[in-house]
Amino acid sequence: MEALQIHGSEAQKKTYLAPLIAGRWTGTMNLTEPQAGSDLGALKTRAEPKGDHHLLTGQKIFITYGDHEMAENIVHFVLARLPDAPNGSKGISLFIVPKFLVNADGSLGARNDVKAVALEHKLGIHASPTCVMAYGDEGGAVGYLVGEPNRGLEYMFTMMNNARLAVGVQGLAIAERALQAARAYAGQRVQGTTPGNDPAARLPIHHHPDIRRSLMAMRAWSEATRCLIYFAAGTLDRAKRHPDSTERADYQALVDLLIPIAKAWSTDRGVTAASLGVQIHGGAGFIEETGVAQFYRDARIAPIYEGTNGIQAIDLLGRKLLRDGGRTAHGLIAAMTVTLKALKANSDPEVKILANHLEPTLTALANATEYLLKLGEAEIARALAGASPYLDLFGLVLGGWLLAKSTLAARDRGDPIRDEKLAVTQFYMANHLPQALALEIAIVSGADSVLKLPPERI
Ligand SMILES: Cc1cc2nc3c(=O)[nH]c(=O)nc-3n(C[C@H](O)[C@H](O)[C@H](O)COP(=O)(O)OP(=O)(O)OC[C@H]3O[C@@H](n4cnc5c(N)ncnc54)[C@H](O)[C@@H]3O)c2cc1C
Repeated sequence: MEALQIHGSEAQKKTYLAPLIAGRWTGTMNLTEPQAGSDLGALKTRAEPKGDHHLLTGQKIFITYGDHEMAENIVHFVLARLPDAPNGSKGISLFIVPKFLVNADGSLGARNDVKAVALEHKLGIHASPTCVMAYGDEGGAVGYLVGEPNRGLEYMFTMMNNARLAVGVQGLAIAERALQAARAYAGQRVQGTTPGNDPAARLPIHHHPDIRRSLMAMRAWSEATRCLIYFAAGTLDRAKRHPDSTERADYQALVDLLIPIAKAWSTDRGVTAASLGVQIHGGAGFIEETGVAQFYRDARIAPIYEGTNGIQAIDLLGRKLLRDGGRTAHGLIAAMTVTLKALKANSDPEVKILANHLEPTLTALANATEYLLKLGEAEIARALAGASPYLDLFGLVLGGWLLAKSTLAARDRGDPIRDEKLAVTQFYMANHLPQALALEIAIVSGADSVLKLPPERI
């Protein structure tokens, strides 16, 4: 809908937008092909001009909700090549291909030449039909060019920030859902006792320090990713709606930097939290009845689709950090330093001490940033070897910063949850955040060992 609103013609918007927004019709994005996943420049689906439309032929794979009978029509957004298109990603155009052709009065006409020819059998998200789509088996699927030729990938990218943020939300949502299930189970599963207690007593497992650690770990991941998602969402809104155009541009640069982290870091935390949730359930977690095995399976797709997390890390490093010479990252680190000062100046020793944890990791982030900027394009392979640890380091420090900010805000406002907020932040700062220090070492001194063995010998 967003892509259509921005890039579609008036006639296309008139035909497709209202039923899509009303939910009478659904939409898909058809990018992936067997030889073209992360590398969309390799896609082969063809679009031949025919009068006022095009005829598409080709195959798409892994298409979410590619076919179903829950809506009257399905509007496929398909990337394909025109006959004279340049090679690679500069020769890709965007087409609307409806499942049922739409008559001039908006009613549905003939079935288009596009069909789902197979369903994928998956590790998780079994309720979502993931389809292999065939275009043009009977001569060509009718498609309508959106915008100008050869700008399809660019058009798809206009909705990518929202799409990637939405997948980040899936990571957060599954972390929270796994936490709620684990918390409930740990409060009622009785097993053993704790040191110093009556040896004959039997207690719910949430009394055991190791289970408390696991539950706190899940809660801290969940709250930190929630903070990051809200921060990115707010920045996205400001980039669109701030009245001042210079501010809008700055917020746009900031959200562009944040999105790969919000997508990748949150979805990785979702997998970690779902795994901890299974562990807290013990054997019952591995058995289907509790439902938590499903969270773990479902969580695993989020680091893969909408651009794998490895691709997000490359995007963060190459397109977001190096391209503006570190300007936006430096601005963000400066904003974190302001919070650090506020922590240091706080009169409550329990808050003040948070600065001791945040400060060295902020330095680690600044050091890693300068190191990668120095390597730059000249030594890009070595820089890329550290891209994923850099994204993790950035995510960890952002999480710590935002938790600290929200702790300060909750205390200033006398919020009833302020003590819990402080406890979760203290846990995060003392248990999760120190990993940032190790990540700096991996980034700054890990590249040579990453690249030492030839790939075929690893
Ligand atoms: C359940 C499901 C639903 C999906 N839904 C849709 C959909 O609705 N529409 C759609 O178009 N697609 C969809 N996809 C496809 C999904 O977006 C792709 O699977 C994803 O982009 C990765 O592409 P690939 O599977 O070809 O992996 P590859 O691109 O082959 O990647 C394999 C590995 O290599 C890494 N890699 C690849 N290139 C590079 C590089 N240049 N540098 C470093 N590492 C690299 C990747 O990070 C990954 O770890 C879906 C996939 C699944 C599994």
